[in-house]
Amino acid sequence: MNILERRKYRGLKIPNYKESTADKLVVEATVPEELCFPMAMHIGAPAVPCVEVGDRVKIGTLLGTAEGKISANIRSSVSGKVVAVEKRASFRGESETVVVQNDFTDAEENLPALQEEIGPKEFSARLAASGITGKGGAGFPAGVKYAMDKEETRYLLVNGSECEPYSTTDYRIMTEYPEEIIAIIELITRVYQLEESVIAVEDHMKDALLALQEAIKKRGAKRIRIHSLPSEYPAGHAALQIRQVLGIEMEEGQRSGDAGILQSNVSTIKAMYDALINNQSLTRRVITVTGPMLKEPKNLMVRLGTGVQHLIDECGGLKGEADMINGGPMMGRPFFDTDLPVDKDTTTLLFLEKKEKPKETPCIRCARCVDHCPVALQPIVISNSYRQNRWDRAKELRAESCISCGVCTYVCPANIDLLKDIQALNKQWEENRNDD
Ligand code: SF4
Ligand code: SF4
Repeated sequence: MNILERRKYRGLKIPNYKESTADKLVVEATVPEELCFPMAMHIGAPAVPCVEVGDRVKIGTLLGTAEGKISANIRSSVSGKVVAVEKRASFRGESETVVVQNDFTDAEENLPALQEEIGPKEFSARLAASGITGKGGAGFPAGVKYAMDKEETRYLLVNGSECEPYSTTDYRIMTEYPEEIIAIIELITRVYQLEESVIAVEDHMKDALLALQEAIKKRGAKRIRIHSLPSEYPAGHAALQIRQVLGIEMEEGQRSGDAGILQSNVSTIKAMYDALINNQSLTRRVITVTGPMLKEPKNLMVRLGTGVQHLIDECGGLKGEADMINGGPMMGRPFFDTDLPVDKDTTTLLFLEKKEKPKETPCIRCARCVDHCPVALQPIVISNSYRQNRWDRAKELRAESCISCGVCTYVCPANIDLLKDIQALNKQWEENRNDD
């Protein structure tokens, strides 16, 4: 079944709350004395530490090597000395972590220069060496994604829609680095011999749109176009965006790669520029640090491994006790420890007013959750199955197709945390299925 077949789903109009950082230039964050590099910064197997306590490292030195088929290298974002290799808390749970004491010399170890003409093999190998993972939040290793047979691939779809409220990372990157973005898209289009490459942006992103158009014109790039999407949530959802932008319908369980489409976030494209043109590994990223409880919201260029508290201080501190979210309010995850280090897929750190969770009331069968689910699930039925301990219904109800967009919970007038139940059911299904 086509996952969007039930109706021509568009999206939900929600307030975007981007005004406090949208027009603020990206500024370099100061770098702390000690940085922590969890080996689990991506989807797949964690990297394996390849340094020991006492080793000297530079910016770009390999700290952990990719392990297995789906994994990614981890490189140091500062020069200094390794002072610990031990288990520590991270945004992805407890992880083996390399701790580096900064010597503040910023000595750098670059990747070797590439030949002028490269093919898909060299391109994907460079992404893997650099340690690039999807920077939109998914954390899939880019070296794995781009290591495919070029014959099968026809399109590149660059997601710049950034539909999560508060986040302005991608918007700033498109506005401030348009030439770098177009240069890499042009390279990918040539290397993979693509028919077309498209950048999807939301229609409110006027400055980004103009900057990208100008860069396309300046380079005379022929097979690159920009597609302006209505500002609706979740405009960044893969299947939805593929249909709206390329007119291709995805089947249930089909990945974009299977449909001949390379899909990357615009921040990932910028990281590719640094790796391929500047010979720099992935060691830093832009993060929107924002929310009504933060004194001075900012877009910061942050060295990976920097602790959250350091960034709160960079933004003038908090106004009081806050609900802290790694990501946006729709898909982000709450966290409670400001010592956690930012990693490759930290897009936004959000500090909201502390609020009592609204009291749940009985379902009134309004069907809003069903009508608004972008992948045509029945969230209330899945939630009920979880509450009745019927994890065995997960497959029949297609619970695994949930993209965790949070729309069902958002629209529910009875304040039922449907997404939480769906995730719990999927976890039970996963655990019990593995017991078979
Ligand atoms: S979070 Fe809810 S609305 Fe979003 S895909 Fe999952 S079930 Fe559907
Ligand atoms: S949106 Fe809430 S109240 Fe309406 S049917 Fe779904 S669970 Fe029930």
